[in-house]
Amino acid sequence: MPELPEVEAVAREVRRALRRSTIVGASVHRWDVVAGASGQIDRILLGSRIERVLRHGKQLALVGCDGNILVVQLGMTGAFGVVPASSPIATHTHITWHLDQSRDLRFVDPRRFGRVTWLGGQTALRTRWSLLGPDALDLRPGWSVAFSTSRRAIKAALLDQCAVAGVGNIYADEALALVGIRPQRRCCRLTQRELDGLGQAIGSIMRSAIACGGSTIRTYRRLGGGAGAFQDSLRVYGRSGQPCAVCSRPLRTGRVAGRATVWCESCQT
Ligand SMILES: [Zn+2]
Repeated sequence: MPELPEVEAVAREVRRALRRSTIVGASVHRWDVVAGASGQIDRILLGSRIERVLRHGKQLALVGCDGNILVVQLGMTGAFGVVPASSPIATHTHITWHLDQSRDLRFVDPRRFGRVTWLGGQTALRTRWSLLGPDALDLRPGWSVAFSTSRRAIKAALLDQCAVAGVGNIYADEALALVGIRPQRRCCRLTQRELDGLGQAIGSIMRSAIACGGSTIRTYRRLGGGAGAFQDSLRVYGRSGQPCAVCSRPLRTGRVAGRATVWCESCQT
């Protein structure tokens, strides 16, 4: 499932691909990926340029110069492609936006957990994103203030998009490994120093992963169909039973917050 670095990589690529492009038409092939403005989303943004491509956590927003906004959640397998308009429509293509210069922007999502939601303007977008926690790329001092009284596992808190936006299973395990915190520790048992270090670790892992174009685990693909490269730098995620890179003991696996979790029993306390 794409997390912040993968969504940021998509945002940058879509931004580049849509520069100076005008949307001249749209076709919805499956309406169940559309939320809000059902029945008219194929008319939204027509004749408009995409002025900005924004991201908060794992959500993207395509902001048209006419004020309309499409929020895109990639879900588990959602992806964009910019292709010549003459290309055959691939299986699982749910929405096609026809661009000038005979190109299409296509939203493809085999598992259909992704969503495209219409919003009428910036106020609606601000309201929607205010319900999410701070963006994981930009955790400022105080980001973890709500954690100090919480008894839930730190990993559960990191996965909660209302607490921190953009962290999923991969980067939660990676950040906790980097700072030596066991995923099962209760938030309220962490010191402020540990939480400050965790915030810095999350930011630094996110930046490194973005520089690699994200991690490709199973399905995530970049705009041109290419893969990210950060999966080669993962310390613990997907490495259950393999030796810890620091102490060489085999990495443990278990379930935390309902998710498969990998950690080092020796390095993480
Ligand atoms: Zn270790």
